Amino acid sequence: MNTSFEFFPPKTEKGKENLINLIKRLSHFSPEYFSVTYGAAGSTRKGTLETCVSIKNLGQNTCPHLSGIGSSKSVIKEILNEFKGYGLTRVVALRGDLPSGMVGFGDFPYALDLIKFIKREQESFSIEVAAYPEVHPDAESENTDFENFLNKVEAGADGAITQFFFEEDSYFKFVEKCEKENVTIPIIPGIMPIHDFESLVRMAKNCSANVPLWLKEGMQKYSNNEDRLMYGVEVITKLCQKLLRFGAPGIHFYTVNREEPTSLIIKNLESK
Ligand SMILES: Cc1cc2nc3c(=O)[nH]c(=O)nc-3n(C[C@H](O)[C@H](O)[C@H](O)COP(=O)(O)OP(=O)(O)OC[C@H]3O[C@@H](n4cnc5c(N)ncnc54)[C@H](O)[C@@H]3O)c2cc1C
Repeated sequence: MNTSFEFFPPKTEKGKENLINLIKRLSHFSPEYFSVTYGAAGSTRKGTLETCVSIKNLGQNTCPHLSGIGSSKSVIKEILNEFKGYGLTRVVALRGDLPSGMVGFGDFPYALDLIKFIKREQESFSIEVAAYPEVHPDAESENTDFENFLNKVEAGADGAITQFFFEEDSYFKFVEKCEKENVTIPIIPGIMPIHDFESLVRMAKNCSANVPLWLKEGMQKYSNNEDRLMYGVEVITKLCQKLLRFGAPGIHFYTVNREEPTSLIIKNLESK
């Protein structure tokens, strides 16, 4: 099974040590790469690069995220050169979200602007982009959101990773729409293992990901953390099985820097 794992850059020395140990353990699943998120307006610039370099030093493929919002062309050019200098030539190119209170879009109002810039500055880079089967919250409509996605593909995206979702039909419909438009790049489902359901519901609200009623009701049946974890593992395992059976080219796990439940889900998938 083709997998990739996403992390955020740790802030403390202890967090860095934990992450390296986590990467070593997850390496046993032979993922295609480990990706590292990038804070809006460069807030994690140093941490993203440092984390990617430590992962690379472990002999693993790694892929920094890069968000353009709030940044200037000269800063992004410098970052791309830094990435290249460390042999990091695959990036997840995003718009990003400005923290509340920050104003101004900088030179990259949309991911499309960043993709075009990367293509111009670093032709050899491979570019992953975000896709939204359940529509991005800022989109004018489902149709314009999809057109905006097609523009990113047209501009040279090599692959796409979706926002997380819990109902496979949203992914299937999105992929069918892509097929009708002759999109041939891999559309990898982004999957969020459930470790803290309450914080997941908050996160889902922010990015307009639907948390279905059956999942909320299912979780409510369990009062202790272990049972909730195992229920979440069962739900996400089934979701991944359906996606892979449908022909999804792999799974991108949003690990939130945790081994479990991601590792339990993969073990389930590998044993079935
Ligand atoms: C796999 C994945 C990884 C992520 N990693 C990070 C990360 O590391 N750091 C981070 O800060 N965020 C990250 N995000 C979140 C992402 O930055 C947000 O979802 C952000 O709001 C949109 O980014 P985008 O690249 O999809 O933007 P875009 O593709 O630019 O789309 C943003 C919105 O603008 C609309 N739009 C696009 N072009 C136009 C146009 N020309 N005119 C009008 N509207 C337009 C789109 O329809 C959409 O509603 C990630 C998301 C995903 C799915």
